[in-house]
Amino acid sequence: LPDHRRRLWEIADVKKTLTNRDAYSHKGSHGKGLVIGGSRQMPGSVAMTARAALRSGAGLIAISTDPGAISSISPFIQEATFVEGGGQVPDVSGYDGVAVGMGMGRESLRGEWIERLVCESKTPLLIDADGLYLLKNSLDALKQREIPTVLTPHPGEFAHLTGLSIGEILQSPFSHSKDFAERYGVYLVLKGPSTIITGPDGEQRVDVSGNSGLAKGGSGDVLSGILLSMMMQTDCLMDALSNGCVLHGFTADLLVQDGHSKVDLLASDVIEGLSRTFRTLS
Ligand code: AMP
Ligand code: MG
Repeated sequence: LPDHRRRLWEIADVKKTLTNRDAYSHKGSHGKGLVIGGSRQMPGSVAMTARAALRSGAGLIAISTDPGAISSISPFIQEATFVEGGGQVPDVSGYDGVAVGMGMGRESLRGEWIERLVCESKTPLLIDADGLYLLKNSLDALKQREIPTVLTPHPGEFAHLTGLSIGEILQSPFSHSKDFAERYGVYLVLKGPSTIITGPDGEQRVDVSGNSGLAKGGSGDVLSGILLSMMMQTDCLMDALSNGCVLHGFTADLLVQDGHSKVDLLASDVIEGLSRTFRTLS
């Protein structure tokens, strides 16, 4: 990696920068997060994001989802609370971080939500999955936003956002990431077998942890939950995002070293596997 503003980020770096849990802390000290997404067709997505956030240390997590999906997911995430928006854009004031888009579907009404959140919310925002698809129509609004925005596309979603082909992105992922992050003033997490984290100033980190066991539905939802938690608990957002990516991949690597195979590994196994990773780090 020739450029000094581009570096590999590994578990040793996580160990150095991860904040300790203070003995006198309370749930408010660890961030109050909101997860917006899910639908009747994809109810599990927000549950996995919320659970991953809590397993990564978040103090409180609320879920805003389709009212018809709440009863099916609440047994899987007893620690979360639910907010009912009545079809309106969810009120995000009072939260320390918001993750939006996973399993949300692509109805145009949701596109208006994304635009309102980008333009009006004063809360750090992570946008993933369907949220990225819908963001395409309000990209320019990102330039005016003063609060941090994190986008977590895989190459297909990044192709949609940029108008480039997946092939073009894979050929020059560093320069396309940098161009985009600088142009729109966002933090960009371009996911894949190697994940590139780029800041709005062009600084880049590379995470090479993880394995093909993660190539399965739900992995991105889990990553978003870990990132949301890290965002709320770390002052430096580049560290927060780099640490979250490595925690996700490192956990998957631990699980396939003993216990699981790359074939059977599920995204929910990674959530439960976080306990081993955090014990390794403490
Ligand atoms: P998504 O495509 O949104 O479900 O996100 C997939 C997640 O799994 C991202 O964090 C990827 O970096 C990770 N992932 C997927 N495939 C691989 C792979 N072959 N090796 C390492 N990580 C992977
Ligand atoms: Mg995804």
